[in-house]
Formats: sequence, C-alpha cells, structure tokens
Amino acid sequence: MGVIARYRQHLPVGPATPDVDLGEGSTPLVPSQNIGRALGLKHLYFKYEGLNPTGSFKDRGMVVAVARALEGGSRVLMCASTGNTSASMAAYAARTGLRAIVVVPSGEIALNKLSQALMYGAKVVALKGNFDFALQTVRELTSHHQVALMNSVNPDRIEGQKTAAFEIVDELGDAPDYLVLPVGNAGNITAYWKGFREYHAAGRVSRLPRMVGAQAEGAAPIVTGTPVTNPKTVASAIRIGNPASWEGATSARDESGGMIAAVTDTEILAAQIRLASSEGLFAEPASAAPLALLFRLVRDRKIERDSTTVVVLTGSGLKDPDAALKNVEPPIELDGDARTLAKVLKL
Ligand SMILES: *Cc1c(COP(=O)(O)O)cnc(C)c1O
Repeated sequence: MGVIARYRQHLPVGPATPDVDLGEGSTPLVPSQNIGRALGLKHLYFKYEGLNPTGSFKDRGMVVAVARALEGGSRVLMCASTGNTSASMAAYAARTGLRAIVVVPSGEIALNKLSQALMYGAKVVALKGNFDFALQTVRELTSHHQVALMNSVNPDRIEGQKTAAFEIVDELGDAPDYLVLPVGNAGNITAYWKGFREYHAAGRVSRLPRMVGAQAEGAAPIVTGTPVTNPKTVASAIRIGNPASWEGATSARDESGGMIAAVTDTEILAAQIRLASSEGLFAEPASAAPLALLFRLVRDRKIERDSTTVVVLTGSGLKDPDAALKNVEPPIELDGDARTLAKVLKL
C-alpha cells in the first residue's frame, strides 16, 4: 500500500484523484544496534528512506504531486534536480504515461541517479550552472508554459512527504524528542514539521520533537543566514545555496526549539562509513550529514541519554557509490587457491 492509500484522509486527494502507487512509504524504522550504545543514547532509530521505490524519500511527495497533476489535466512534468527528484519524477511519469523533463546542473549529479531518470524515459537536460540556477530556470519556464512544476515548491510534494512523520509516530506511539535530518532545498524539514504539527492538532501525539537540521559546511546558507553562490560539498543532494523552503526550515527550527548546523565533508564521510560498517545501513552522503551532526551534539552533551532520537536516512547508498568508495580499502586482487586465500586472509 502506498502513501495515498495509507494516509488518504490527511492528504489533498479526493474521489477524482487518480490512484498512483509504487508502494512508496512504510519504510522501516530501524533501532540502532551499535551506534546508540557507543554514544550512550538509549533510544536511537534510523528511518530508512532509501528503501522507497526509487531509493529516496522523494517518492512520498512525488506520488501525491503526480496524482494531483494528473487530476488537473497535466501532460508534461518538469523539475530541477540534484538527482533524486528527477529519478522519482521520471518513475511516476513513466507509471502514469506522462512526459517527464528534468533539468540537472551539468556535471554535478551522481551517475546512478542520472541513469534512473534516463531508464525511466525522461528527457534529461544538463544545464550549465548550479542547482539554484536550474531551479530558477525551471520555475520561469513552467510559469509561461503548460508544464507542471514538480519541485518541492509544489505544495503537494510537501503534503506527501509529511507522511514520514506520521509513520514514525504510528510506530513509536508518540513523537520522538529529536528528529535529525539533512537540509538542502529544505522541503523535507518543512514537511516533517507540518506532519508532526498536524498529528499534534489531531491529538495523536503528546509532544512535538525538536527539529535538528544538518547542512554541509560548503553549502550552509541557513546556518550562515546568507545564500551561497557556489555551494560545494561531497553530499550532492544537499549541494544547494539558496533553499526554496528557507522560511519553512527556519520556522521548523524556531517553533520546535531545534537547530540547524553545518558539518564538514570529512565528518559526513566518516559518519557514512560508520553507519554502514556498524549498523548495516548504507545511505548516501547527504543522509550521513545528520548522523555526523548527532555525533557532535552528543559530544557537546546537547542531547540527553534517555531521549528518543530519530535520524532520517534520506537516500540509499547505492545512489552514489563513487563518493563512498574513496574512503574504503579496495578489494584484494588474488590469483590463487584456497591455501593462498587463507594465507592472504591470515586465517
Ligand atoms: C532531496 C534530498 C535531500 C534534501 O532534502 P530537501 O527537502 O531538499 O531539504 C537530502 N537527502 C537526499 C538523499 C535527498 O534526495
């Protein structure tokens, strides 16, 4: 069952909205086995969004936005993307027979994300310039043509993405104390906060979480308070200098008593390896940014030991293996038999 079927009464869909469903959502909330203990945190969970149909949380919002675009009579969908939005939009367009056009910053997106958009049959334009310019260009074009804008400035995207907050509450029985996630264009932090507040208004939770956002040091406009002209980070999904939902992110931070802080690429890659090698969870670099920030908050004693913390792993590690492979030992090349193998392995 996808997110529209599961959370229909909380979404802007009605009897006339077409059923669109790739089985998105209902991702596992995995309790930490090792990192939580090492940090002294009793209740640490990972919301493993990499298990969505196209490998990132983007599918939650995209399914609602595509259903609504179909309902409104759209035939052509368009987005600017650092990779995952384009993969998701292209998949749902393929599913529903719509045309998909994606605009990506030339040379800036991970190969596997690009291959998804191409395989799903989207028309891909690699535009010279960064993501912020691509989004500006797409916004301008879609305001003059009969083409539906599918970036997270489309409110239906936020509506669908808020279902991740519902799932966490439905599983834990209440809101966590801390929700830690990466912040790029800031749609997701906006969506989670909306989801928690809606459940709060409906009496489904007794408290609201503190929203903790992680940006990368070279792309931290919300942390510094000024747009970044040339955002730089290994975490391509959050390589964004002028977030479209800036306001939503600062509201979530301020209303929840949370924070948004920056981590370095070195911290991100270290957290990514630790997550994979000590929990069995392979997430892309952007998804490791909140874990890197959590390490620092625990070190600075900013998080209580008995608090419940959920770290959102936004995308699968298979999306961008190149970034990860720079930091692990390569395979052992061997020409030999079982004896030589045992010797090489020092067994
Ligand atoms: C899109 C994305 C983000 C950033 O989310 P925003 O809503 O743009 O803040 C983080 N991680 C991954 C894997 C993403 O695909």
